[in-house]
Formats: sequence, structure tokens, C-alpha cells
Amino acid sequence: MHSPELSLIGIFGGTFDPVHYGHLRVAEEIAEMTGLREMRFIPAARPRLRRAPMASLQHRVAMIRLAIQGNSGFILDEREVQRDGISYTVESLRELKQELGDDVILCFITGADAFMKLAEWHSWRELFKLSHFIIAARPGHALATYRDALPRELKEECASRWVSDGNSLKQASSGLIFIAPTTLLDISATVIRVRVAARQSIRYLTPDAILDYIAANYLYSEKG
Ligand code: ATP
Repeated sequence: MHSPELSLIGIFGGTFDPVHYGHLRVAEEIAEMTGLREMRFIPAARPRLRRAPMASLQHRVAMIRLAIQGNSGFILDEREVQRDGISYTVESLRELKQELGDDVILCFITGADAFMKLAEWHSWRELFKLSHFIIAARPGHALATYRDALPRELKEECASRWVSDGNSLKQASSGLIFIAPTTLLDISATVIRVRVAARQSIRYLTPDAILDYIAANYLYSEKG
């Protein structure tokens, strides 16, 4: 009996306040580069390490739904929405591992900025037992010197985990790290929120459907 083919599943966590083309393009390129079966967007209901998101959870979820419409490989996963308390990535990965079984390899996606702070996350060393990491390029973080720039404790934990090719991720069930040379897009949710508040254009930073949703619901600005 031959073993079934292993599939890689991308897990993209974030506050998505709001979702934008930086997220979407990174997701698309990483899915293509590593042959992901699907990419799950998991909005954090109550992130621990940052201040509360500006838009309500309901709005952030609705915007992700609009943004991924028409892409059958992109999936909205609402598990952190349904869970009480602070949103811990480790809990989501434990649940996913149980639900999806051993034929699936989880790959957690972070931008180069977010991965730098990984050692501040709850039970961060356990994350490597549950998932691989795929780090997306982000302006301000040179990829050539990225590994050396990590904080000491994280650098030591990562030392034996690096792979230089997305195809290597099927060689282990978790714990590898791949830096994906994605297109640099200097777009952030912060810039979008600031521009909306200043009544400046956010066109072409995020899909038109999100633009319309933000305007219709008076998000990120004083009403009127
Ligand atoms: P904010 O400006 O509110 O901090 P953000 O734009 O960084 O938000 P998040 O929802 O916090 O968006 O990000 C979720 C994940 O997506 C993080 O791992 C972050 O590093 C990554 N990410 C966000 N924008 C980009 C981008 N332009 N390029 C690469 N990665 C990105």
C-alpha cells in the first residue's frame, strides 16, 4: 500500500485591519512557489501583542470574504473568531493539525517584520513542532542578511531549520523555515487607515470591493 500524497496548507494569520494587496499578492506568490493546496486566512479576533484593531471583527471578516472571492484556493477560516479570549496561533495550529490529519503539512505565513518578533509569541517554540514557517519579503528587511538580523534566542532556535527552496518543505512534517522572495509591496493596513482618516485615496492599495466596503461602513474615519 503506498502512502497518500502529502499536501501543504498555508495558514495566513493577521489582524487584516483591513486586508490589502500586500497580503493578497504574498499569498498568491507563496501558494505558487511552494505548491500549496490551499491558503487559509485566519483573522485574529483579539491579538495579544498589539492594540485592539480599529474595525470590528465582523467588518474585518467581511472584508477578507470579499477580497478572496473568486479564488477557490483562498479560504476564510473563522476559528479564532469563534474562540473566546485572546487569539493564540499555537492553539489554532494544534486544532488544525488534529482536524486535517497527518497527510497535511501546515505552513504558517508571516511577513519578514512579524517573524522577527516570533520569540514574543505564546509557546513560540511549540509552533515549530506543529508547522513550517514561510517568511514573505517586506520592505525594510533585506533578505540577504535576514537570518543574521534575528534576535539571538530566535536565531539559535532557527539555525538548523532553514531551507533555500520551497520544494524542500515536504521533506519534514514541521519545523522548517523558508524565506520566500516575494515581490516587495510597501503596503500596510496602517497606511490605509491613516489615508482613509485623512480622506486620501486608497485606490489600488486594496481591491475595489474593500474600498467600497470601507466607504459604505464609514470605517477608519469620522462618519460624515
Ligand atoms: P498593520 O499596519 O495594522 O500593522 P499589516 O499591514 O502589517 O497591519 P497584518 O494584518 O498585521 O497587516 O499582517 C498580517 C501578516 O501579513 C503579517 O505577518 C505581516 O507581516 C504580513 N504582511 C502585511 N503586509 C505585508 C506586505 N505588504 N508584504 C509582506 N507581508 C505583509
